[in-house]
Order: sequence, then C-alpha cells, then structure tokens
Amino acid sequence: MFQDELAKKVRPFIDLIDDMRSIGIEKELPLPTIAVVGDQSSGKSSVLESLSGVALPRGTGIVTRCPLLLQLCNDRTVKWEAVISYGGQNIPFNEPSEVVRHVEQAQNALAGKGVGICEDLITLKITSSTVCDLSLIDLPGITRVAVKGQPDDIGVQINNLIMKFIKNKITIILAVVPCNVDIATTEALKMAQEVDPEGTRTMAILTKPDLIDPGEEKNVLEIVQNSVMDLKMGYFIVKCRGQKKIDENMSITDAIEEELEFFKTHEHFRSLLREEKATTKCLATKLSNALVKRIKKSLPQMSENIKEKLGKVKHLLSQIEGGPPKEPAEKRKYLIQVITEFNEQITQLSKGDTIIEENLFALMRKEFTEWMECLNNAKSHYHKVVQQVVDEYDQEHRGSELPGFSNYRVFQNVVQKLVAELKKPAMTTLQTIREMVQKEFDHLSKEIFKNYPYLQDVSKKNIQTIQEKQSIIVKERIVEQFEMEIQVYTQDEIFNKHILEGETADYSHPSLLSDLSDEDSSDEDETHVLEKGEKAEGSDHDTRSKYPGLLKAYYEIVVQRLADQVPMLIRYFILKQSAKIVCSEMLDLLHRDDTDNILQENSEIAQYRVKLQAQVDRLVQANGKLSSLRG
Ligand code: GDP
Ligand code: MG
Repeated sequence: MFQDELAKKVRPFIDLIDDMRSIGIEKELPLPTIAVVGDQSSGKSSVLESLSGVALPRGTGIVTRCPLLLQLCNDRTVKWEAVISYGGQNIPFNEPSEVVRHVEQAQNALAGKGVGICEDLITLKITSSTVCDLSLIDLPGITRVAVKGQPDDIGVQINNLIMKFIKNKITIILAVVPCNVDIATTEALKMAQEVDPEGTRTMAILTKPDLIDPGEEKNVLEIVQNSVMDLKMGYFIVKCRGQKKIDENMSITDAIEEELEFFKTHEHFRSLLREEKATTKCLATKLSNALVKRIKKSLPQMSENIKEKLGKVKHLLSQIEGGPPKEPAEKRKYLIQVITEFNEQITQLSKGDTIIEENLFALMRKEFTEWMECLNNAKSHYHKVVQQVVDEYDQEHRGSELPGFSNYRVFQNVVQKLVAELKKPAMTTLQTIREMVQKEFDHLSKEIFKNYPYLQDVSKKNIQTIQEKQSIIVKERIVEQFEMEIQVYTQDEIFNKHILEGETADYSHPSLLSDLSDEDSSDEDETHVLEKGEKAEGSDHDTRSKYPGLLKAYYEIVVQRLADQVPMLIRYFILKQSAKIVCSEMLDLLHRDDTDNILQENSEIAQYRVKLQAQVDRLVQANGKLSSLRG
C-alpha cells in the first residue's frame, strides 16, 4: 500500500520526463536525469544490476561503450517486460536473461564491434513488479590508459562524453566509488567536483564495503557522515555481488538479501541502516525521491525554456513562409506575385531606388571617376608626346618647306594615335561595371527566388545572356565612338572657347589664335579644328610653338566628350535596358503551363521547414504535458 502511494507521487513525474525524452525534446532542452559515473571496476554495473534486478554486460575493459538510459517502471500487474531502443528501432522482449545480449547488440550497432565508444543513447525500459520507479544513465567507466586496440585518446573521449552529461545543471551526478580506495581522490568525485563545486547535485555511492581493510572502517564512516567532502545529497553505501558470488551464480534477489544481512550484522556500518544510508533498496527509494524533487524543481524553468524555444522556432518557421499554395489557380497567382516582386526590385535597382547588397550607383560612380582620372592622367602623357613631335618635327618631318611651316597631318596623326589609346581603359570600365551589375542582379535573383531553384536558374541564365548581348552593344558603340574620334572634330565655337580657357589658364603663352599663320590646309573634306587655328591671322615665324596649346585645347574637348559618353552608354545599356529586358524575359514564364515545375521548391528549404515543424510539434506536445501535470 505504501509502495502504491509512493508510486502515485513519483510515477507521473518520471513518466513526464521519459515521455519528453521519447518526443525527442532533449534536442531542444536538457532533461533532469541521474548520470552514473565511476572509474572502471568501481562497481557501477553492479549497482545498476541491484537496482534493476537484471544482469548487465560485465567484463574487463570498457564494457559500457554507449550511454545507457535505464528506465525502471514499477507495475504490479506486469511480471517482467523490457523494450530496448536505439538508432530508431524498438525491440521488445520479456526474458531478463536476454538483457546482456540485447545491450551488447545495441552497442555493437552504434559503436561498432570492438572497443570504441559512441555518444548515441541506448534506452532500456524495464517494467516489472519488483523494480522501483527510476531512470538513470549509465556511462562508460573513467579510464586513463588505452588498452590494445583502443584509440590513444580513449580516455579523453570518455571524459568528454561524461562531461557532456554531468555538466548539465539539472543532472544528478551519481558518483560510484569503491570503499577500498582513497575515496576523496577518485577521478569520479574529482569530475563531479569540477562541474558541481558546491556539491548540491552529487550523490556518492560507496561500493565494496566487504573489501575494506580491517581498521579502515572508521575513515569510511567519516566520509559517509559528510565530514570529509561535503555533498548535500549525501553518501550511500551498498554491497553487491563479488566476483566469486557471480561465478557461483548467486541471484540478484539473493544478493540483496545478503546485503541487508551484511549491514545488519556489521560492527561499524550497522548504524547506517537506521540512518537510511545503506543498502541498494534504500538507495533506490532515495534516488527516486531525489529525481522527482529535481524534476519538480526544474518544471518552471523547463516550461519557460519550452515557451521561449517555441517562440524562436515559430519565428524561424514564419521566416521561411508557407511555400507556394497547392491549388493550381492560386499557384499561378503566386507565381505572378513572385515574378512581379522580382521585376519591381530589379527595376528599382536599375533606377538606384533600392540598395541590395552594396549601393550599386555608388560603386559605379567610383568606377566612372576612375575612368575620368584615367583620362586626366592620359593628358600629361599626351602633352609630352605633342611637345616631342613639335620638337622633332624639324629633324624628322620637315620637307622642302622653310622652317616654321608645318604639316597639319602630322599633328592629326598624333591626336588620333593618342586618343585611340583610351579605347582599352574604356573597355575595362565597361567590363568592370558589367560584372558589378551582373553580380547585383544575380544577388537579387538569389534573394527573391531563394526557395525556388528553377526560377533562380532561369533568371540567372537570362541575366547572363542579356548582359552578354548588352555588353556587345556597348562595345560596338565604344568602337564607333573611337572611330569617330579618329575624325578629329569639334565645333569651331567650342574649340575657340577651349583655346581661350587654355590661355587664361596659362598666361605665359602668347595668344594662340592671333599668332598662327596660314599654311598647309590640304584636307578638304573634313572640318579641321587645327585649320581654324592655322588660318587665323598673325605672322609669327614660329607657328609650331603654338601647336601644343591647340592640341591641348582639343584634347580637353575629347576628354569631356568621352568622360560622359562612355559612362552614359554603360549605364543605359548595361543597367537600365538590361533590367528592362530581364523583366520581360521573366514575364514570358507566365505564358508557360508548367507552373508546378517553375515553382518547384528547394528541397533543403522544404526539409528545413519539415524539421522546424517537427520541433514546433514536439515543443507544443511537451508544453501540453507539462501544463497538464502542473495544472
Ligand atoms: P564497473 O566496471 O564500474 O561496472 O564495475 P563492476 O560492476 O563490473 O564491478 C567490478 C568488480 O567488482 C566485479 O567483479 C564485481 O563483482 C565487483 N564488485 C562490485 N561490487 C562489489 C561489492 O560490493 N563487493 C565485492 N566484493 N565485489 C564487488
Ligand atoms: Mg560496467
């Protein structure tokens, strides 16, 4: 009867946590558990065997190679049944003697045959009339040295695995320590102390009391009385089957009886029975209560965590939206929406109204300024060459004419040659801007069509082809422009204005216009800028000294023309017009009848949505369970 009352108080809480675990909520938030830690051969398995009433795998070396969650459920109507779950499968069985085989099989499946370890959890649920309500996790024994066949860092691996479980603030640490060693310095207690320095969630189980050297009992008692190392949850002392008894096939039930007898008759430890600090049976009840207390205590926090997590996951889910509608007409509308959105954005981008990643117009302006600088830099080179040609004219080009008479064509050639040199940087500017624009367009398509690989692909290809075509057009225009520049032309009025500007800028020069003599105006079919100058009145003997100024003035005009012309071509064809063409190409998609194909979702997104939805479901379920228990 008393047992029933206890079960009523305990079971719902332990069930809650087990249910939560089976929902998979542990992925979202840690659950209160009891983790069993101890050095190898400290007696962990023996304690768990006594608690569960079944034999567990034993042997030398690392026997526990995966965390094993032992769920014990008391049910007076059930004789004995068990379910072992791992890697997504659940295997029920009802023969206690098969536990060892099943656990070993599970470990081999998860950690591979041999001596490796693995972090995946094996769950063994045992329901029977003789166990108490409890669940705890058995962990691999602490070890320092690797044995044959083990990876060198096995100790580190095991340490990390244990730490992963015990560093969690809501885990109860059950440190198993043999009585016949220097208790305070065992690795298990050291690790526990590391994560629980206050000793508020560590309970120590002292094993092998029958192996204590006579005379050492007092020291052990002192420890149990909490006077050596203070543990708020206290010390426990249990006696399990020694190797001899196991070899003699002593049953666990018999062993428990023998244990009670041992303490009853023990000269020093007898008192511990009264204090409820000895025997496995007493330990079971204590643990059960401690776990429930822990669970109750962590419920408000868990509830809070679940709500917070739920909010976060729901938000993430809302961010990846619901995907396209299923109904065909709706789906079409949706496609129109998506494409319209893209078209609007790309149009705005081409107008400089939206900034996608970087400000495209700012980037282009920078590039165009560089073009301008390139033109300006070319000026000094140009001036130098012109001066050289003038200087060398007498030696190299002068024919029968008298000094001071010169040939316009020579200078025309110089202008043509130097201006032609600007073609290459103009093309580079085009190429750079084209890449920039294409990158921004691509970025936009990735953004807007991120869930739709087909649309992303089509738009990307469109952008590529259109950009290619448009840049061919611009290239042709630039080539044309330079062909026109070879003509060496400007309106007289503009030229004169520049000459005057050049003069005011450079007072040391005599007036160019007035000083030039009339000579060699042989070219009839073109309007020559230089002719004008040459025809101007004046009779200075050294007309050639005026040439540099005139050519400078002309170059100024060329620079102004090109400085604007090239950027205007690029902006118009590469940005504005290509945005327009991309839009119309995208609209063509609406004439097709394979909307399903076009709106095929990115499988990753679809999977992600499913995963988030599952998380939401888990959290909602957990939240429901929590409130039903608390309410
Ligand atoms: P584990 O490696 O921590 O799981 O330790 P085991 O439970 O396998 O125990 C190691 C050895 O100590 C086994 O041979 C057990 O039979 C033995 N052992 C465990 N508890 C006791 C005990 O209370 N008394 C005696 N004499 N031997 C024990
Ligand atoms: Mg063991």
